Amino acid sequence: MRMITGLMRILIICLLASLSRECIAADGKRQRSILVLEEADFRSPFYSEIFAGIRAAAKPNGTSHTVTYGESLDLARFPGPDYEESLVGHFKTKYAQQPIDVIVSIGVSSAKFLQKRKQEIWPAAPVVYGFVPDLPETRALFLPNTTTVFARVRPAQLLTAARAVVPDLNRVVLVGEAWKNPLTYGHWKQDFAAAMPDLEVTDLSGAVLREVRAHVASLPARSAILTSAMYSDGEGTYYSPAAALARIAQSANRPIIITSDTFLGRSGVGGFLLLPEMIGREAGEVAMRILDGEAPSSIVPFGGNNVKPIFDWRELKRWNVDEAHLPPGSEVRFREPTFWEKYHWHVTIVASVVLVQALMIAILLRERRLRFVAEVEARQRMSELAHMNRRATAGEMSASLAHELNQPLAAILINAETAQQILRNPAPDLGEIRHILDHIRRDDQRAADVISRLRSFLKRDPTERRELDLNAMVGEVFRFLSVQALTHDVELMTEPSSADIRVRGDKVQLQQAILNLVVNGIDAVAHLPDKRRRVIGRTSLADGNVALVSVADAGDGILAEKVTEIFEPFFTTKAQGMGIGLSIAHTIVEAHGGRIWAENVPSGGAVFHVSLPLAAPR
Ligand code: ADP
Repeated sequence: MRMITGLMRILIICLLASLSRECIAADGKRQRSILVLEEADFRSPFYSEIFAGIRAAAKPNGTSHTVTYGESLDLARFPGPDYEESLVGHFKTKYAQQPIDVIVSIGVSSAKFLQKRKQEIWPAAPVVYGFVPDLPETRALFLPNTTTVFARVRPAQLLTAARAVVPDLNRVVLVGEAWKNPLTYGHWKQDFAAAMPDLEVTDLSGAVLREVRAHVASLPARSAILTSAMYSDGEGTYYSPAAALARIAQSANRPIIITSDTFLGRSGVGGFLLLPEMIGREAGEVAMRILDGEAPSSIVPFGGNNVKPIFDWRELKRWNVDEAHLPPGSEVRFREPTFWEKYHWHVTIVASVVLVQALMIAILLRERRLRFVAEVEARQRMSELAHMNRRATAGEMSASLAHELNQPLAAILINAETAQQILRNPAPDLGEIRHILDHIRRDDQRAADVISRLRSFLKRDPTERRELDLNAMVGEVFRFLSVQALTHDVELMTEPSSADIRVRGDKVQLQQAILNLVVNGIDAVAHLPDKRRRVIGRTSLADGNVALVSVADAGDGILAEKVTEIFEPFFTTKAQGMGIGLSIAHTIVEAHGGRIWAENVPSGGAVFHVSLPLAAPR
């Protein structure tokens, strides 16, 4: 019984273990795993970009989900067998329950570690090697059931970049630990000798950072510094390679050729640069192919497309480098945009705004000009019409004018005859004659006044604006029409305001407007019985700050629906009417900033109102 219970327990444990190994993710997709083993700290920019590249390649697809684990061996900073031993123990414990489907090994140190210890930790997992140079020494590290994506900046490429930057190069200074490592730069001495037999080489790969800084501060003119990653100052302090490069650059007096795009922008001039994101992506893609079923041995190790000549534009300027000398296919970064590239949006927007504004101003000016021309034409036509209107009125009034002239002329005649008779007397009374002559002069003056009133009424002067006494102006109009009213047997009355009302305007025009209203009033009552034959002119201050003239009659009034139409040109209900009197009055009043309107009075008749702004508002 005891044995059966024991067996059951083992079975359950196996079942659970196998279930966990199946690793079916919650969303139903199959879960696979990649372990990324990086030789250095994957929080550094270079290695973190490699990791990001692998992650990007391991995106979930329709059927499976891939989990990516990452481990940093960091053997450069933590060397020694004890640490290595502890790593093995750590990984064994950590991954005991976590199956690894494929390992992506990054860097030579990592490949070395796997060569020695993989069997103990992940015996069955296939391996993809990334970020290793294609050298016989590195190929010797590869285990069976593995494949590789090579990545390497060749020593000859460093030299090519240096010669592009310093065309008459005759000396290079080697900085960084990697120069010592045959598994990184291989046998650079042979490579350099083959490319440039006369090249002088100063190898500072074993020197401490302090010495390197001192040395690179005073290099001769035709030299360049070739760097590789540097992690330590050689005196116990560890750096990130980018920080170490920045320190060297601070004191260097010659251009620095670099090997990774994560160093660009930190005072390196550029070179053939490793693209860590691409290194990761390429290795990740191969890992995915293996996860999808391809045998690692069937994937022939290949060189990736992960090195590119890239230069820093600011450094090229600093060292006076002609871009035409750069290796073919070079990319230049940090190029300062030209004024146009930088501000072309601003410039375009400002230019368009200015253009649109100019266009609008031109249109407005043109419209203003057209309006001005139209206004001048209208005013001219109005003035012509007004003149016609005045002549017609004068024609109508000719009988009464003749009557008005007759009176003084008749008086002059009588006075002249009387004077002749007195002169026939041998002793004429000179005092009497002087008296008669005074009368003749006064009558003559009266006749001259009549003529001058008529002439001023008929004259066609251009508009002239003056301050006018409203009461006096309305009074004159009524007096002017008194004879005409008399001939029609119509009584004209004025009720001037007690206030002194002053308006600004053209006297002849304003008088004509009022005159037209009075003439219409006379027309409206001329055929009526006696007591209604009256036209009254009133002046007043409306609301205390508007001058008002009202002309009222007791005629038949205006048809209610025509009270606005009557101001239209050529509207008339009279057999002999021209229909322009009110339209002229309307134009004149509006030109003076005023308003004209008509209404019927309940007791019968029409009243026309003209409101005008005061000359000086109270
Ligand atoms: P006209 O006097 O030549 O007809 P107006 O423009 O002076 O031209 O007047 C237009 C019309 O307005 C008149 O024909 C008339 O019908 C109407 N009207 C003007 N004044 C009065 C008024 N005081 N009473 C009634 N109707 C009037």
